[in-house]
Amino acid sequence: MSEYSGGCLCGNIRYKITEEPIFPHFCSCRMCQRWSGSAVAAWVDFPRASLIFEGSGGEPALYRTCETTQRGFCPVCGSGICALDDGSEYVSITVGTLDDPNQIVPEAQSFPEFAPSWLKVESVVYEKAEANSKKTTTAKLARKVCKLERRKY
Ligand SMILES: [Zn+2]
Ligand SMILES: [Zn+2]
Repeated sequence: MSEYSGGCLCGNIRYKITEEPIFPHFCSCRMCQRWSGSAVAAWVDFPRASLIFEGSGGEPALYRTCETTQRGFCPVCGSGICALDDGSEYVSITVGTLDDPNQIVPEAQSFPEFAPSWLKVESVVYEKAEANSKKTTTAKLARKVCKLERRKY
């Protein structure tokens, strides 16, 4: 059984997951950019029921970023930990908060059209993201565009 663990910058929020990941991907939508402070965020989805928060801070604080999605972060240090789509059985975890980010290799890039023009995510082919989104329901969910997400900030 695989085990994944991670946490925020200050250690207040710690998590553990014992299920298999799906849909490892980059996202360069404007929301992920603003939220992460980076040009692109790396995400991976896990069954929500398998996620256990075991740090002293308990569960991350939540900020609703659009009608259907909340994002979890550490209220002490601000690290972005997760994203939760309402009603979804999956939770998206930021690859950068894993204790070993090498465990996950992103295979797709969502919203490459919103990435800064200087950003080249060369390990990912956009067509592959499209193909994946047709294959899996969760990928479809992940690509379900929030109207806000398309808004120019
Ligand atoms: Zn923290
Ligand atoms: Zn995004």
